[in-house]
Amino acid sequence: MRRIDLKKVSVARSNTIRDINRQIVLNYVREKGPISRADIAKETDLQRSTVSHIVKELTDFNLIKEVFGESSGGRPPALLTLRSARPVAIGVDLGTVKTIVGCCDLTGRIIDNVEFFTDRDESRTTELIIRAVQSLMKKYEGMIEGIGVSLPALVDSENEHILFSPHFTWRDPLIAERIHKSTSLPVMVENDANAAALAELWFGRLEVRDVRDFILVFIENGIGTGIVFDGQIYRGPNGVAGEFGHMRIGTDAPTECATGSRECWEAFASERSALSRFEKLSGRSVEEMTFGDLVELSQSGDENAIAALKETARFIGLGLGNLIQGLSPEAIVVGGTIVNVWPLIADEIQAAADSVICQGIHQTMILPSSLGSQPGLFGAFSLVLADKFASISF
Ligand SMILES: [Zn+2]
Repeated sequence: MRRIDLKKVSVARSNTIRDINRQIVLNYVREKGPISRADIAKETDLQRSTVSHIVKELTDFNLIKEVFGESSGGRPPALLTLRSARPVAIGVDLGTVKTIVGCCDLTGRIIDNVEFFTDRDESRTTELIIRAVQSLMKKYEGMIEGIGVSLPALVDSENEHILFSPHFTWRDPLIAERIHKSTSLPVMVENDANAAALAELWFGRLEVRDVRDFILVFIENGIGTGIVFDGQIYRGPNGVAGEFGHMRIGTDAPTECATGSRECWEAFASERSALSRFEKLSGRSVEEMTFGDLVELSQSGDENAIAALKETARFIGLGLGNLIQGLSPEAIVVGGTIVNVWPLIADEIQAAADSVICQGIHQTMILPSSLGSQPGLFGAFSLVLADKFASISF
């Protein structure tokens, strides 16, 4: 699912690869729309008649529509945009605490969603997901084209199979297979951080969509990282690359990582580590607290909550510094509920990252995700949508 680099696009001239030209036109409309046929032809060097022909096909296929622009006297120009408001994809964001099942239109806008607590029992969670998916399919009969599933697990994305989730200790769970069996729709499954990276690539902030190499760091109960090289997710030979959450950065972390170590980055810098720090500072039990509660406390001025978040930010920054030092990406995007307190923690993160980076060499931007505190859901949508934008064939 390589995202086309519109700057480097060279138009395919052979009939056998007409699909590529369709894909180029569709992606121009997606990224630059509302845009006129003439502007697409000018920017892509495609023949005007070819553009018109492709636009007709894409319109017939319900992917794009015409809107009318501002008139400067005379007939207003016909511009093209993606056809929105019609749900096309279902996303399942299977999180460590909550699962969200929603559907979105072609632009990635959420149209409907339900959420429930994730059950540690694989079978029960799968049943709840299937029930939610089926109710959306019934409500939007005939419109849904595919289902994307994002979850904290090692995933064999080629075979759409989940290998292992350290958090839930699920081995070879048949979640994707069971959803496919009960819906007959294509089901695409991906590690949550990889899916969120894909969402940044296709639907994130412009600074990120314009870079070809970046790392998405997804902070939740654990830490996941999705690596994008040259506009494509880097998976490594076994498909399980990007587990920086388990790089060792110290000893005696405030909590354990998903596999029981107190030396891993996620044991120092995850949501759970922040809650543990707050518990220690305030003497209050955090058993009934969520990370969202901690964020709210900090926003109402609670000093212990603020201190716990800042200390956690320092460890987030140390880990980011290591990633920058080793991989020198153009950008690092941080996703998760923690982005809601970005103004409070941004300086700590940057200072800690700078402290481990050799000065004057790296110029990596560190940015909060623009996809809200639930990049997992957008990630799940992106699995379906990116596939659609990347491979249009009729
Ligand atoms: Zn670990």
